[in-house]
Amino acid sequence: MDEQTMFALLVDLHREGERQGPGSTDDTLRALDLARPDDTAELAVADIGCGTGASTLTLAGALPRARITAVDLFPEFLGILTQNARTAGCGDRIETRAESMDALTFATESLDLIWSEGAIYNIGFATGLAAWRPFLKAGGVLAVSEITWLHPDPPAEIRDHWNAEYPEIATAAEKIAILERSGFDLLGYFTLPPSSWIDRYYLPIQQRIPAFLDRHGRSPEARALAEMEHQEYDLYTRYQDWLSYGFYIARRR
Ligand code: SAH
Repeated sequence: MDEQTMFALLVDLHREGERQGPGSTDDTLRALDLARPDDTAELAVADIGCGTGASTLTLAGALPRARITAVDLFPEFLGILTQNARTAGCGDRIETRAESMDALTFATESLDLIWSEGAIYNIGFATGLAAWRPFLKAGGVLAVSEITWLHPDPPAEIRDHWNAEYPEIATAAEKIAILERSGFDLLGYFTLPPSSWIDRYYLPIQQRIPAFLDRHGRSPEARALAEMEHQEYDLYTRYQDWLSYGFYIARRR
């Protein structure tokens, strides 16, 4: 399947989702609690790889004076975000930018808070930290969720799958060491519960798949994507004790 077709199908399957990756409102608020931003200030916030903006809207609600720039590669996701922000009455504080997270156009030391849920893997954790750090003011905070082994030495099936998918997958200790080497001090860390994967992400996808297949006339490409989503879900349910997203909250030195 060529990349263009794959992207179009991915966007079509995921655009109606509340989230485009594992996570929940509770997880976002828990991370925000650890980030301890001044919620009375006019903070400059970026939500990178925001998708349709579930976390963006939660942040806008919890930080009533913040101005948030929501960034994603896909304009179609940003269009939905803009609609939802208007409905929620915070459209005037949210700006969207369709650009790639490895070529962001923020000014140096302009941001108080960088948020990114389930997205930094697109360019890699260490690469993302190095690319984004200059945009934070000194003392600014980064909150990022990243795929993480919950124990060392995972079983071969899940280890081989993830090492092929995303070789940077590692334990929290290794991720925290990378943060520290990249000029950040850890403020807090927790792991997403299985409900943030299953109830908030995989089950809603499974429910959308029949209509998705119909929309695409059950094309081989659409069926291949549906099968991939099913396999990912199956693998996660069997190995949920071994991996999750870790949420890392850290201050720029
Ligand atoms: N933060 C959202 C979406 C997570 S899915 C949520 O938690 O629901 C990962 C997101 O990263 C998708 O919306 C995808 O479109 C976006 N993305 C992928 N590659 C990107 C890139 N190079 N630059 C910016 N966004 C990218």
